[in-house]
Amino acid sequence: MFEKINPKKSLGQNFLKNQITINLIGDIINIKESDYVIEIGPGMGAISSSILDKTKNYVGIEKDPYLSEYLKKKYEKDIKIINEDVLKVEFSDIYKKKYRIIGNIPYNISTEIIIKCIENRMNIQSAFFMMQKEFVDRIQSKFGNKVFGRLSVFCQIFFDINKYIDISPKDFYPEPKVYSSFFSITPKKKILLEENEIDSFLNFVKEIFEKRRKKIKNCISIKYDNVYDNIDKRAEQLSIQEMINLYRDLKNDGKLV
Ligand code: SAM
Repeated sequence: MFEKINPKKSLGQNFLKNQITINLIGDIINIKESDYVIEIGPGMGAISSSILDKTKNYVGIEKDPYLSEYLKKKYEKDIKIINEDVLKVEFSDIYKKKYRIIGNIPYNISTEIIIKCIENRMNIQSAFFMMQKEFVDRIQSKFGNKVFGRLSVFCQIFFDINKYIDISPKDFYPEPKVYSSFFSITPKKKILLEENEIDSFLNFVKEIFEKRRKKIKNCISIKYDNVYDNIDKRAEQLSIQEMINLYRDLKNDGKLV
């Protein structure tokens, strides 16, 4: 199947080849006839087939023109493929209804994909991704853990995260150097922030994680005094609720710009 393909490293082309893993992913995503699906980077269709078996509402976004043509031929008129960089596609132009996103993602755009999901969270029903294991561990990690960072907070503020399986490099062609994880993010029904706090809180989180080794009071541009709980700690030592409390205290006292 792969003999005619010359995988492009620049596009993160590591194709799933283990049929047991492919079937397992099909079971996990459990697509329904009524689902509206966007698949990012369908490649040669490893995951696409199990989606197309279940729903007609499918759009794949594939940057590689050769693979876009390959998919159109393979599935004929059943498949809609946008031959474009996913980061340039407006999801809201594809569906007016809530949709599901599925993707074995090129790892170099994982952060951008998560940010794009945050921006589109109101219209996303759920998203299921395969990403590098370390990256998934990072977004899932809790405070006190050394990989807990800005992206963990961003992701956990808006989504429930669920990891299903770790996947060996052996399941891909060509084999990547790292393990992968398959996981889902589902928008939370109620988040801990008010709508009008979101942008400035995310900015605050960016600032306090900017210099990871520094105490929070040395990261933000305020003339601090030590009346604030936790300001003497480093950002990674605070739970998300403690971060929100500190943000609100500082904001209420006019200490944040
Ligand atoms: N889904 C297939 C599978 O599981 O075998 C392929 C996965 S491969 C890791 C990533 C796929 O994303 C490739 O087909 C690649 O061409 C495509 N791709 C890479 N960068 C992209 C981008 N910016 N936008 C859309 N597709 C991209």
